[in-house]
Amino acid sequence: MAGRPLGPYIGLSYGHLISTTPGVVVTRDRWAVHPLALERPDHGRRDEPVRCATCGRTFTVRVLSLDRTLRLRRTLRASAITGLALSVLCAALLAVAGEGAVPVLAFLASVGAVTALLTAMRLRLEVGATPRRPTLTRLRGHRVLPGAGELPA
Ligand SMILES: [Zn+2]
Repeated sequence: MAGRPLGPYIGLSYGHLISTTPGVVVTRDRWAVHPLALERPDHGRRDEPVRCATCGRTFTVRVLSLDRTLRLRRTLRASAITGLALSVLCAALLAVAGEGAVPVLAFLASVGAVTALLTAMRLRLEVGATPRRPTLTRLRGHRVLPGAGELPA
């Protein structure tokens, strides 16, 4: 769970949605992809406006300092380990628990496993840059993508 390498610059890319083609099973989106290079602040965080090269609209990406990114990764790592430990402990207790405790233990084991999986997936991609506005989930037809990793200093 080492994650992507970190440095003073973050290399990402963003996509501008060109078209959406609905299919029988899968909807296909076509994106115009542009590189996005962000410099980390020395301390804290900074909201960086990004202007789309295709349409000229802007959206905001929050960039964390190296310290904050490392702290976020430690928190995610601790959360993943806690979820995994909860899952293993509850699975082990299933062997010795009475019938009444089985649904609760199975539920807690599932919650722990899902938490561990999701946080480990996020930890793998976390570089300290998160799209913020217009909204967290919708960027008016734009999308921030993992890039080529950190750019050389
Ligand atoms: Zn655009």
